[in-house]
Amino acid sequence: MIQHDINYYKNFDSIAKEVLALLAHTIEVNTFFLSIRSPLQSFMIKSFNRNAELIFEGDTLPYNMVFCKLVVENDLEPLVIPNLKQHPLTSDHPITKVIGNGCFMGYPLTNGDNIFGTLCAFDIKPFDFKEYDVLLIKSLATLISQSIVLENGIIRDSLTGLYNRNFIYNYFNYNKEKIHNEMAILYIDLDHFKYFNDSFGHDIGDSVIKRTAECLLQFVPEDSYVARIGGDEFIVLLPTSQCEDLLISTQQKAEFILKQLSTMPIHINGNVYFVSASIGISFYPDNGTEMESLLKKADWTMYKAKESGRKKIQYYQE
Ligand code: GH3
Ligand code: MG
Repeated sequence: MIQHDINYYKNFDSIAKEVLALLAHTIEVNTFFLSIRSPLQSFMIKSFNRNAELIFEGDTLPYNMVFCKLVVENDLEPLVIPNLKQHPLTSDHPITKVIGNGCFMGYPLTNGDNIFGTLCAFDIKPFDFKEYDVLLIKSLATLISQSIVLENGIIRDSLTGLYNRNFIYNYFNYNKEKIHNEMAILYIDLDHFKYFNDSFGHDIGDSVIKRTAECLLQFVPEDSYVARIGGDEFIVLLPTSQCEDLLISTQQKAEFILKQLSTMPIHINGNVYFVSASIGISFYPDNGTEMESLLKKADWTMYKAKESGRKKIQYYQE
């Protein structure tokens, strides 16, 4: 997920560039890169050369093929390889077979025990990394890790891991020029959610919110965005393609989401409960071109859905 979220981090790009430039000016090898990993892929955020110039950005490589995998498997220790051909971890590695001799150093990007990426230095010639080089890459990897964790906290909800209200605004502002098609904004509020808090306690209430988040993530269309913006309030941004009839496709998608939510079994103390939701919908650009007013209108419409009996879908009308 970080790979996609990076576009919405406010200060990360400049921090990443400064870190790579500092490495390039200090360590006497040719290539420096910052990567994020997923189970199957390694995503190269940026790579700088010795002159601190950007040489790659946004490439994806098979995770099993890259040296970053060795860094991740190195028990949170810096991986320092002055000579690829002479090191047991790399002597038979496919990359070594291609480039011949060379050197590599990497340190993981972490959040607690979770390793989500690497900061690395590399050259096609052997090089004896100095103690100070190792210390520098370690400190800068820690700085980058903390920056990613901080930025992540700014756009994601800590209880559910969904996006939050900030993200909705960032997404809209970042993509405003690129959003050529219409978009539906679904404002979803659970019906009588307080019943769970009042009857079973706040922790069970939290687990109902988490189940709702999982259900939404599972059943919204692939290109949509799901956020939790308050207690039991969720937003789904539903972009539409040009060939779709906006009203019909939104109706179908919203009905499907409501059906999945209201049939989701919630197991508490050996009993099964269900929760429904009320959904208010506004459309970009018909109902507004600013996210703030689109959210307000969808929120207002959601209350109309509550008033008309709950477990309803309503569309904003002037
Ligand atoms: P309605 O059908 O009118 O929406 O009724 P409701 O009971 O769902 O009430 P409402 O949406 O107004 O209130 C949501 C409640 O969620 C209010 C607050 O006590 C509770 N809440 C807010 N944040 C959290 C949270 O993080 N965890 C839990 N468990 N409860 C929360
Ligand atoms: Mg509610």
